[in-house]
Amino acid sequence: MDNNCIFCNQLQHDLTLLDTTENFYLIAEKYPIVKGTILIIPKKHYSCYGAIPKKLENEFIAVKSKVEKFITENYHSPVIFLEHGIEGQTIFHAHLHCLPFNQSLLNIITQQLGNKYTLIKNLSQLKKEFKRLEKYFYYQENNKSYVFEVGRLSPGYIRILFANTLNCPQKANWKTANPNLFTEDLNDLLQRWHSNTNFC
Ligand SMILES: [Zn+2]
Repeated sequence: MDNNCIFCNQLQHDLTLLDTTENFYLIAEKYPIVKGTILIIPKKHYSCYGAIPKKLENEFIAVKSKVEKFITENYHSPVIFLEHGIEGQTIFHAHLHCLPFNQSLLNIITQQLGNKYTLIKNLSQLKKEFKRLEKYFYYQENNKSYVFEVGRLSPGYIRILFANTLNCPQKANWKTANPNLFTEDLNDLLQRWHSNTNFC
């Protein structure tokens, strides 16, 4: 637990909390750029998924596939998963972004970050890459998981990527954006989750 971390301090009783498992929170993104965005967050304070213990892997896989099923069924779209492996984080507590998106961002990401990446299959390989690189950018689409080697990334790189792709730059910075911009999409997700008894 880190006293200065908003994820350590606020999630347990937050309105955006969708569900908990033994070691993870499922949270509706409070400022979603894409409607239906969910965050998977370990309860304990780890810097990124490359730093979480391997013993959480099975639980993590189960949580992730539950989220994928929910998003696919409710937003009728493939799901993309992304994570700042420390670099580019605006909250320094591991969180995986999960969102419905039916375009590939692989070209734009390789244009921006370069094509130095490793395809990985599991958490152990992610942990290995984190140890080797000390920081990374994680991107998953079509069941392929890419760990990019990165230099400096702008804080909130993921949000900027989606805000630019969807042409809504006013939503990029969650700290300065008008919260009203996100209310409707956030409520849509909360309503769908809580009305879907399979997922409560
Ligand atoms: Zn924390």
